[in-house]
Amino acid sequence: MSEPLLLDGKTLSQKIREEIKGEIEKLVGAGNRRPGLAVVLVGDDPASEVYVKNKIKACQKVGIESFFYKLDKNILTEELLDVIADLNSREEVDGILVQLPLPPQIDQGEVVLAISPEKDVDGFHPQNMGRLVAQREDGFIPCTPLGIDLLLKHYGIELKGKDVVIVGAGFIVGRPLSLLMLWRNATVTVCHIHTKDLRKFTSQADILVSATGVPGLIKGDMVKEGVVVVDVGISKVDGRIVGDVVFEEVKEKASAITPVPGGVGPMTVTGLLLNTLKAYKKRIKAHSTSTMKP
Ligand code: NAD
Repeated sequence: MSEPLLLDGKTLSQKIREEIKGEIEKLVGAGNRRPGLAVVLVGDDPASEVYVKNKIKACQKVGIESFFYKLDKNILTEELLDVIADLNSREEVDGILVQLPLPPQIDQGEVVLAISPEKDVDGFHPQNMGRLVAQREDGFIPCTPLGIDLLLKHYGIELKGKDVVIVGAGFIVGRPLSLLMLWRNATVTVCHIHTKDLRKFTSQADILVSATGVPGLIKGDMVKEGVVVVDVGISKVDGRIVGDVVFEEVKEKASAITPVPGGVGPMTVTGLLLNTLKAYKKRIKAHSTSTMKP
């Protein structure tokens, strides 16, 4: 088969981020404050530090103010909940991002629940997950599924009636993505570690998304000719960032494929910026309505 189309998340991200920047400058020019994102990092996990740094840098570039909170790795759940309660009440904070995973002594579920759903730009609060189930546009869609959806849309990849197979049922990617793909009228199959015969499902896929963090899981003989492949995985092997997909093998059969890095990664950060802009616009609108003179 000829070379597959490369689903270039880096270039698309640059384009969308320019648009976000333009929209923010317009709103700020009209007398509004800047949008603000609070980023909370607990502990000093090197991978999390890199992710957080990238997100803060991306905010700066589009004109979103970021408020960075680096907390001790031994912090207790209650102390973290106090920080979140403070951020919930701050006018200048439109979005709150708590970088996951959290250290083991912290009750992650409680932390996610404590974030105001209106500021939950990661989209992990059960209220926003519920909105995703109910196919309501007024919630926040988790950033990676949002980014993947935009990437597929940009390249004109039809989802209606297609067999979308998602490998990985995690709460951050696979599970919410399966719901979003239903919004698009795809026929969705979700596989996971207990799936008996993974190949049986992957080889049927028109669109295959892998989000497991298992390098080399998806091999050339597991996909059909013409498949569209979205590789979400991020792992470090011999100092190199790799995905779940054996790119060199799978690209021989794929009609389109995401590179790692430069595919889903930048689109995830773009998803975060879009969600922060959405939160900001909603909040400044609500503020202007509540302060309007009769
Ligand atoms: P997770 O641990 O929550 O979920 C992993 C899923 O993979 C589980 O459902 C598990 O059952 C499944 N799985 C594991 N081994 C498997 C196997 N051998 N066969 C089939 N299924 C298997 O992880 P997550 O948070 O969803 O993240 C998954 C991967 O995506 C990680 O590598 C993570 O770093 C990456 N990620 C990337 C981005 C990005 O922007 N590119 C964003 C989020 C997560």
